[in-house]
Amino acid sequence: MTSLLERTSIGPNTYTFRSLEQLLKPYEGKSLLTPREANTLNFHIVENLMVENCDRDTLKILARYLSKKGLDDLVEERVTNHYCGYPLCRFHDPKQIKEMQINKLVAKLKMPRYYLSKFCCKRHYQATEFYKKQLSADVLFMRTNINQPFFQSDTYENSIVLLEEYFEAKKNKGSINLNTPAMNELMELMEKMQIEDDEGDDGVKGANETNGTNGAHEVADMDKSMSDISIVEKEGPQESSRNYAGSVGYQ
Ligand SMILES: [Zn+2]
Repeated sequence: MTSLLERTSIGPNTYTFRSLEQLLKPYEGKSLLTPREANTLNFHIVENLMVENCDRDTLKILARYLSKKGLDDLVEERVTNHYCGYPLCRFHDPKQIKEMQINKLVAKLKMPRYYLSKFCCKRHYQATEFYKKQLSADVLFMRTNINQPFFQSDTYENSIVLLEEYFEAKKNKGSINLNTPAMNELMELMEKMQIEDDEGDDGVKGANETNGTNGAHEVADMDKSMSDISIVEKEGPQESSRNYAGSVGYQ
C-alpha cells in the first residue's frame, strides 16, 4: 500500500455509512442524548473505528457526535492498534505506528518524530488536524438536534470539508462549491498552512523523514494558523449549546 489514494480507498473491512446507521439505530429520533447514552455511543464509535478505515460520509457524520477530545481518543486507540491515526486511512504498520515515549520538546514542536509515530505521513497528520479544527468543542450530550436527517443543510456534517475534498474541488473534480464564504476561509487557511497538493507523494516520503527541522517549523506554523480558524463554529447547531461551555468534564 504505497499511495495515499490507496490508503484511503474502500477496502473489504472499511467502515461505511451503512454500518454507522446500524450503530446509531438505538438513538434514532432522539434530539438530545443523556450523558450515559452519549458516553456509550462515543465508546462504540471508538470501538468500531479503531482499526481499518472508514468512508468519507462516515467521517463527516461523525462530526455530529465527536468532540475534539473524542477525536483525540479515537486517534490514540488507532495508534495502539498500529493504524494510521487518520480514520480515512487503513495504513497499518506496527513498526511505525505505535505508542512512543517522546520527549516533551519534540511533542510540543510537533516534530516529524512525534507525528510519524501516530500517522503514516505528514499529510494525514495535517488532514486529521484540519478535520479536528472543524469539530465542535461541545460534548455530545450538550448537542441538540442530533436526530436531523443526515447532510441536511444545517447539520454538523454538512459544513465539514475534508482535506481530500478541498484538493479535489481545486481540480474541479469534486462536488464542493469553492465560492462560499466558508470555502474562502478554508482556502486562506490552506495558504497559511502551505499545504500543496502533491498527490500525496510528499506525504508518503514524509514517512521516512527523520531529521525534519524544516518540517517541524512548517507544521508548527500550520498549528499557529489553525488556531485562527472559526469556520464551523460560526454556524450550524453548535451555537445553541455554547451556553454550556462551562460544563466540561464529560468529554
Ligand atoms: Zn495515513
